[in-house]
Order: sequence, then structure tokens, then C-alpha cells
Amino acid sequence: MLLSSARFAAIRYLASHAAPFLLSQANDRRIALLTQVLERMARTEHHKAQLRYLRKLIGDRHPAVGLARRVLSLHPNARRAVVNSLGVNATWLGDAERNAFAAAHGVNPPFLIVISPTTRCNLRCLGCYAGEYPREADPLSFEVLDRIVSEGKEMGVYLYTISGGEPFLRPDLLDLYDKHRDCVFLVYTNGTCIDDKTVVRLQGCGNVAPGISLEGWEEQTDFRRGKGVYRKVMETMDALREAGILFGFSATATRLNAQVYYDEAFYEHMIEKGCLFGWFFIFVPVGKESSTDLMITPSQRDKLRQVVYRVRQTKPIFVADFWDDGCLTGGCMSGGSLYLHVNYRGDLEPCVFMHFADDNILDIYERGGHLWDVLDTPLFRRIREVNRRDPNPLRPCPIIDHNEWLEEALRGTNAQPTHPGAEDIVGRLAPQVRSWAAEYAKLADYAWYHSGQYEWAQRKGDPLWNHKGSQQASSGGR
Ligand code: SF4
Repeated sequence: MLLSSARFAAIRYLASHAAPFLLSQANDRRIALLTQVLERMARTEHHKAQLRYLRKLIGDRHPAVGLARRVLSLHPNARRAVVNSLGVNATWLGDAERNAFAAAHGVNPPFLIVISPTTRCNLRCLGCYAGEYPREADPLSFEVLDRIVSEGKEMGVYLYTISGGEPFLRPDLLDLYDKHRDCVFLVYTNGTCIDDKTVVRLQGCGNVAPGISLEGWEEQTDFRRGKGVYRKVMETMDALREAGILFGFSATATRLNAQVYYDEAFYEHMIEKGCLFGWFFIFVPVGKESSTDLMITPSQRDKLRQVVYRVRQTKPIFVADFWDDGCLTGGCMSGGSLYLHVNYRGDLEPCVFMHFADDNILDIYERGGHLWDVLDTPLFRRIREVNRRDPNPLRPCPIIDHNEWLEEALRGTNAQPTHPGAEDIVGRLAPQVRSWAAEYAKLADYAWYHSGQYEWAQRKGDPLWNHKGSQQASSGGR
């Protein structure tokens, strides 16, 4: 249901004035009071249920409330961005705006847009897919990036992930973040290029959340990223924490380092350093000479899923696994179901790990089109037809869990690989990936259907988990 413009204005006013006041003292009573006020304003049952759930967590003294308290101790600019840009714009009002856009244009906008504005990087990490693209001057100018974000906002998208290469090698991106303070930018970075001046700019914006890459402890990080990188990252985390900036870690799990992430001490350390969130990625063999040797084993993946779940339940940090938390997103997010990727050249990829495209944003602009035109290309439509077929959201991925669906989706399109060797994932590597997936399927099906761990996510009709966004996406995303 769409919000009236008066209600839009009231929520924006509340967010920009009343919420910072209510939250100026980080105590549970004030957070609970704010949830009550917001619940009265919320129009959808889904959003009301989220607020009631948050109030219940406060009553239960759940560790997640400790996370909310940590958010409220950030610099006021960061706090404002979390409430206004992430909570109100990206989630609530954005939801209504996306519905309005879908009604007017006949395509559902995504929730999030990932942009890789550069492939340049000061490091040379082993197996990094960004290394597959030429390290040339950046084809996407500030003006193009600005237009992408502006058009995203027209669709109701206020959440952007900036990936790379190393985004902090482009100082003009700080101007982009500053210009769009009504949005939140999660910036994946190796953490070695954030100097004191950059920290001051980030503190001034408040709406930028660096996600700093680690491979575990010093030994694993320096092995893959280079000597001295871990120490530099720790210094960067200290500076960001001191400045009250929202940030977290980003970790790639491989067969060699997965066991590091089973250790609770790792999360304690990240919390101590100031991380408020942590994203896990599984190594996916999408590079030119890639092999499946570095992929975590099915049992390592199963274990990581359980650890991430437990940490989220017990510690004041939000950790998520890009593959194994499909129950939080309704399944795979690719193809515009919930997100899309604009690579450094402007190629429009359904996912950062799906290196195929059948259109390019620069070409679209040249033709007089708009960013949302990509949602209707054959590639994006075909991906949305296959990406949510599996009712088990613990194995959602058309690349690694249902590799044959990716092959099937590509077959009906003119999509081209976006770098040499990208096609290997559905060719040379397909037999290994598929037998790996068959092994993992046994573990994931047990976890989803028989373990009882996900009973909360399977409750039919519960407005907290059965958000219409995932239903739309599962029906093809139109
Ligand atoms: S294609 Fe795979 S990696 Fe990409 S969003 Fe879907 S589940 Fe995630």
C-alpha cells in the first residue's frame, strides 16, 4: 500500500528531528519508545511486525539490543544516517517508493545497487576477481556515477554498495557520498588507503560504512593480501572507531581459512576493534585460471552457516553470510530481484559473481535510456526466472548451488562474459561445482527441513518474515 504524501512528510520529519532526540541517550527505554512511535506511523504489517519484534528483543535483553546501543554511541552524523538514510529512506519510505515505481513502470526496482567504480588497487591479493579486469583508467566518470545514484533514488533505492578495486583510490567518490547523504554507502575496502583526512570526511558525511576485508587473523590476511596489511587494517579500524564511524569487516572463506571463523575469539576481537557488522563471502571460482580447490568444503560451509547464525544470536554485532542467510532475503538477490551490479566498465551484471552482461549503462545512456532499462533485458529476466526456484533458501545460488540453472538462463540470451575466462563457471568448472553442490544439498536440506533451526522463517503468514518483496521476486520479479 502506498503512503500518502502527508505521511511521507511526517515520517521524514520524525526521522530528522524526533528520532535523534529520542535516541540522544542510548538507553533501552528510549529505543522502545521510538519503536512505539514508529509503529503507529508504519503502514505495512511487515514494518509494524519488525518494530514489535525489536521491542520484544529489548524486553528479552537480546544481544541484538547491545548492537543497537553500539549504533547509538556512534558520531551523531553516523547515527542520523542509520536512522534517516538506512531505516527510513532505504527501508520504509523506499519500500513505498519502489512500489510506486513498479506500478508506474511495470518492473520491480531492486533494494540495493552495487557499483564497482574502479579496478585499480594498491594490493595484489591471491585469487581476487577484480584482478581479472584490466587496471585501466576508470571509464565511469563522477557524472555517470552521480546519475546512477540519482536514477536509483527515482526508483526508491537508497542503499549502495561500492566495490572495487580499491574505492578509496578515487577521492571523487567522497564527493558522491557527500552529495547523496540521503543514501547509505557500504564501501568494501582493503583498509590500507583510509588516511586521517579521509576519516574526517567520512565522519562529516556519516552515511559511509567501510566494510574492511580480512582473511582471518594476521597470518591468513598477510598470506593472501601481503605482508603488513593486517596491521595497517587494525590501525584503520582504531581510527574509524575513535571517530565514531559505522564500519565492519568483510571476510572471504576459503578451504584454507574457514576454521578461523569458527572461533568466537575472532568476533570478540572484531567487536573490540569497533566493527558493528561483518559480511562473509565464500570463495567463488570466477576468475580466469580459477579452480575449485580454494572453495570451502560442503561441511565447512555448513559449519560456517551455523557459526554465523549463533554469533548473530549471542553477540552485539550483525554478521551475515551472503549465501547461507537466504532466509533473510527470501533467496537469491541477483538479476534485480533485490540487487544488481554495475561493473567498472558500466557492464550490468546480475550479481557481482555472475560475470555476464547483455547491456551496459554507458550504452543505455547513449541511447537515451535509464538505469531501470536493465531490469527488462533478456539476461535479467531469465535470471529472475531461475534464481528462486529452490524452496530451500539455504542453497539459493544459481552459480554454485544450481549451476545448471545459470547455464540454462544464459542460453536464452545474448549475454557475453565480461572478462576472458568468466564462461568457465558454466563450462570447464561446471562438473566440479555441480558435484560440490550435490554434497552441500544434503546438509542444507537437513538444516532447513529437519533441524528445526529455521522454524521461525517457515511460519506461514508471519508478516515479520513473509515480506511481499520476496514473493514478487520469486514470481519472476516483474
Ligand atoms: S547469484 Fe549467488 S552469489 Fe549472486 S546473489 Fe544470488 S545467491 Fe548470491
